[in-house]
Amino acid sequence: MGPQPRALLRLILPALFMGLLVYGRGLLDRLSEDQLVLLGYTPYLLAAVGVVLAYQFNRSRFLLLAVFTAGCFWVIRDSLQVTLAANAARDVYLAIALAWPLALLLLLLVPERGIVNRWGFVYAVALGVLALAAPRLVHLVATLLPPGSDWLAVWPNERIVMPKLMQGLYGVTLLVGIGLLVWRDDETEVAILSTLAASAGVLGGLHLQHISLSLITAAGLVQLSCILRSSYAMAYRDELTGLLGRRALNEKLKGLGPRYSLAMLDVDHFKKFNDTHGHDVGDEVLKMVASRIARVGAGGTAFRYGGEEFCVVFPRKNAEQCVDALEAIRESVEDYRMTLRDKGKRPVKSKDGERKRGNMATKIKRGTVAVTISLGLAERSEELLTPEDVIKAADKQLYRAKQAGRNKLCY
Ligand code: GH3
Ligand code: MG
Ligand code: MG
Repeated sequence: MGPQPRALLRLILPALFMGLLVYGRGLLDRLSEDQLVLLGYTPYLLAAVGVVLAYQFNRSRFLLLAVFTAGCFWVIRDSLQVTLAANAARDVYLAIALAWPLALLLLLLVPERGIVNRWGFVYAVALGVLALAAPRLVHLVATLLPPGSDWLAVWPNERIVMPKLMQGLYGVTLLVGIGLLVWRDDETEVAILSTLAASAGVLGGLHLQHISLSLITAAGLVQLSCILRSSYAMAYRDELTGLLGRRALNEKLKGLGPRYSLAMLDVDHFKKFNDTHGHDVGDEVLKMVASRIARVGAGGTAFRYGGEEFCVVFPRKNAEQCVDALEAIRESVEDYRMTLRDKGKRPVKSKDGERKRGNMATKIKRGTVAVTISLGLAERSEELLTPEDVIKAADKQLYRAKQAGRNKLCY
């Protein structure tokens, strides 16, 4: 569907949450030594829950993200609670500061392909090799840099531990992640970007008290919330259009009060449209129509009812109050022109279709197509007591709109 800049809004809550935990980490000082030791297991516990959930939903990227995060936490706890002046500690630090962003970059770039198959295996092996080879990789990078270069020097200034090279790597990974988030609009990117921010915070501010525990706990919680949100989306959202689906509609209907209105929307002559332009173009048009319906005003919520039919629920509104919002959708769909990408193949079929269809929507400039929708609206009343009754009534009005020549709203 093209870039979705709104997807960036998904980062706000994780960012606030992580900021809160960093800010509040001073409270950990009040805990006893024993309590702190116990709390130190939280990131592993969160990772374990993440693994179980990711496995349940067959998401390899989530699973590997959880495992890798826990692994890095373990290394930090095990080997990096000392000054980096010691060579051994510095080597470990450089290895993890190289491997962590690279692993996240890899997880960002690969597509989700499920867990128990060759792809899940390949991803896991790639991350394992990266983790094990990281010290050698640092060595290799060091030999490639010009002699005397300070790119791998820790503490490049007095405020940050992370060497310049890793800062650059984090910057690149951040840009790639933001690009992919805008492009895919998916919770996995949110989880990876949040983990990226947390790991940058940990590795940049390694000297700060409780920083790894607070930030990696925050990252683990964000990961879990992302897994749950994306599984919610799997169950409740329609994959093609991104709108809420039938299951979500049924739940919405159960919670409605005594006053509400409901509209049924149906794309006009869509079967012919598919026959003329092909199912793929049909799908694109459905996405376009759905995106218009999703922006409905008057407090309405849009659902894909099935096929090329949509439903909008307006809680606490009578029919009159919904008319303007629905007319606005009808007009915005009517005005939309979609450019056919595949011009080479279509014209022959397209002319064919136009001849057969006569009055249909596609008598538009060559290479573009357009559709219209018909709408039926009904409100809850003494005669229409249940949501099923109201849906039926809206459907009747929709039928009237079709009879009246389509591209109309009846109520
Ligand atoms: P009307 O104006 O009376 O609504 O005519 P219509 O052709 O739109 O009505 P009908 O219900 O006969 O056809 C609906 C068509 O919608 C059938 C099917 O080809 C198409 N359709 C349903 N779901 C999808 C989908 O997910 N993608 C695509 N491309 N087409 C779909
Ligand atoms: Mg239909
Ligand atoms: Mg139709």
